[in-house]
Order: sequence, then structure tokens, then C-alpha cells
Amino acid sequence: MRLRLGVLFAAPVSILTGLFYVLPFWLLGWHRYIGVKSSTTGKSKLGTGMVWVVDEAKAPKWLLARWVGWGGHCVGSFVVLRKMPEQVTTLNHELHHVHQMHTLGFLQPVLYALSSLTAFAAGEEAYKANHFEVAARRVAGQVADATSFTQGYAWCGKSHR
Ligand SMILES: [Zn+2]
Repeated sequence: MRLRLGVLFAAPVSILTGLFYVLPFWLLGWHRYIGVKSSTTGKSKLGTGMVWVVDEAKAPKWLLARWVGWGGHCVGSFVVLRKMPEQVTTLNHELHHVHQMHTLGFLQPVLYALSSLTAFAAGEEAYKANHFEVAARRVAGQVADATSFTQGYAWCGKSHR
């Protein structure tokens, strides 16, 4: 029931990204659908989504060039991965973003942007110090945030370790 409500809450984002990104790229053969996946961490209760992988043989070079340095991303209730996952780490990271989408719904992208903005204003890297990224990295068992581990956060002049 909670997952269904989450999918509904995220639907405005899922419909937009699905219609203008995931569906056309899938129809063009650039994304290969691998199925509905659920997080294996036990910490992303609503982390269930439809997953695609970029098809390297069919995707155009400009698209592959845009993926350099990235493992995957979450768009609404959907996940697109750069490669077929050998380990579940990247998939669990992205499925935690799906959990965030299903918890915060269409507000998630707004709050994500605000988190990047506040991290940037605090002098940290907007992506690495973003609260949603730190949480996803922590849940997936990745290094959560190297900068903050060594220097602490700097919010409103206070340092938090
Ligand atoms: Zn992430």
C-alpha cells in the first residue's frame, strides 16, 4: 500500500521523465529494460522501481559520452544504469533515490536542488555533499562523503562531525 502511494506521489515526475526520456530511448533501442528491482539493503523500504540499462551497442556516441563518470540515475520511479550491474551497489544507490522519490514525491527534485544549493553555499561540492546523495551512498555501502568525513559540515557557521 505504501509503495503504491509512493508511486502515485512520484507520478508527476515519472510521467514526465517516462514520456520524454525513458520511453523514447527504450523505443529507439538505446535503453534495454531489465525488469522491476527492489533494494537489497533493507533500508530503502520504498526502493522498488523499473530498471533499464544503456545498450552500448545501439546507443549513439553522444549519449555514451554523457554517461562518462556516471553509474546510473533515478528519474521518478525509474532507474537507468550505465552498465548491467555486476554488483548491487550502484543499483541499491539508485533504488534509494527511488525510495526518496516515493517518500517525497514530486517535491524530491525541488528539495534535491535546494540541498545542492545549500551545500554549495556552505562551500562544499554541490553533488557530493547533497543530503540525498550522502544518504544514498551511505545506504548502498559507498563512501558517503569524503569531504565531510575529513572536514565536517559547515552549516550556518557551525561545524558538525
Ligand atoms: Zn545518487
